Amino acid sequence: MKTIFLLFFILSVFICHAQLTVKWEDLSAPDFPKAVENSGKLCVVPLGIIEKHGPCLPLGTDLMIVRDVVLKAAQKEYVVVFPEFIAGQINEARHQPGTIAYSPDLVWRILEETCNEIARNGFEKIILVNGHGGNNAMLSYFAMALLSRKHNYAVYVANGWDIYADEAQKRAVEGLFAKLPENSLGHAGADEAAEIKIIRPELFKPEKAKTQSGENLARLKHLTNVSTGIDWYACFPNHYAGNAAAATDELGKAMLNATTNGLAKLFGEVKTDTEVLKLQNQFFDQAEKPLKTDQ
Ligand SMILES: [Zn+2]
Repeated sequence: MKTIFLLFFILSVFICHAQLTVKWEDLSAPDFPKAVENSGKLCVVPLGIIEKHGPCLPLGTDLMIVRDVVLKAAQKEYVVVFPEFIAGQINEARHQPGTIAYSPDLVWRILEETCNEIARNGFEKIILVNGHGGNNAMLSYFAMALLSRKHNYAVYVANGWDIYADEAQKRAVEGLFAKLPENSLGHAGADEAAEIKIIRPELFKPEKAKTQSGENLARLKHLTNVSTGIDWYACFPNHYAGNAAAATDELGKAMLNATTNGLAKLFGEVKTDTEVLKLQNQFFDQAEKPLKTDQ
């Protein structure tokens, strides 16, 4: 009898401490408050996009990769992961089939209201993990623009690709890059293809990799020290940079593994951070009465 009670006790302790799912949409409403607590009030939004990825990769490549690494990292360091998010800056691919390019003001509002809604549900910290290069400038501006109004949460912006837990993992991936033929890397190139080859092998069509050119046409090379909105199209009109045919399983596994570890480390750092919110609150107080700020 004693053994049965002991087993029951161990089982109930195990069930009480069983990890909740990391996916926001998979949580039940009664479990949600516990997930917010367990995550250290940290919610992670992986930002994907729907755009052409050369002739041989799926439109959702960025979404698939960023969600894969964020979800795996969340298993290592518990955070709540926001549902599939595809609103972003992708005007440069509007000439290609399948692109979803919401208008700039709508992209902004969805992102801002998503952050507001996450915070209204009890989170104090939000990491926007970017899986799409075309979002880089927008996200930096978005984070700074949030300083224009007082708010009770902190937004952190992170890259969903070149992020590493340590130098050794970085060197290992860079070593594999160095083994590739020249100009293999880039948008829909060997690096992204290698990751899709692991995550969704049935969606990678290597035999189509050379049916379009991923070469840089450099059609604006006469302009130096200046940029334009049409730069990307000028270089890569096929929305393809590099050579997906050079993708290997070894590279895909190494990249996914390194990024997952890098993100798990980052989640831990952000969970323990208390400075961003403290400084932000101090800043908002001062910004209301700038003449009182010590000179
Ligand atoms: Zn991509």
